[in-house]
Amino acid sequence: MNDIIRTPEEIAARVKALESILIEKGLMTTQMVDRLVEIYETEVGPQLGAKVIAKAWSDPDYKARLLEDATEACKELGISGLQGEDMVALENTDDVQHTVVCTLCSCYPWPVMGLPPNWYKEPQYRSRMVREPRKVLAEEFGFSVHESKEIRIWDSSSEMRYWVLPQRPAGTEGWTEEQLAELVTRDSMIGVGDAKAAS
Ligand code: FE
Repeated sequence: MNDIIRTPEEIAARVKALESILIEKGLMTTQMVDRLVEIYETEVGPQLGAKVIAKAWSDPDYKARLLEDATEACKELGISGLQGEDMVALENTDDVQHTVVCTLCSCYPWPVMGLPPNWYKEPQYRSRMVREPRKVLAEEFGFSVHESKEIRIWDSSSEMRYWVLPQRPAGTEGWTEEQLAELVTRDSMIGVGDAKAAS
């Protein structure tokens, strides 16, 4: 099975074939497949990651645990699952902007972010982000990172899935975790944008 799958159509056909075999062998039912898709489309999404980030912003001890072992820290909030067995959270600072890409395919921390956006899977994003990150962030995402700031690119894989702890927006002192979570965007956790500003 070392042939390279090239198009979304080929991937879809392969998934369909696998699904049929599993159902035929009684290992899965169509209802189970539908339910799984529903879970990742409607229940698991960046709102879960936002909850984790908001807690890290509010609780320094939790933040330390998150940076030490993101998988375990997420479990404390009841967040875990497929494609999140080994997650690493990277903290943005005044000096460093972390940005995540999967150069090989589309590895992404599902339990905290749901399914990846389409652009994350595009060959263009995957290759250009490595070569000219500052330019891609500015041109494709309207996100200008100051020249004095280093941009560090992390290549997610099936072994290790990275995501970003964005900087806490100014003017949010005293905010509750629920309020803070509203400011955390999917893009800020991929590292292609900031968290929303306090309004
Ligand atoms: Fe991948």
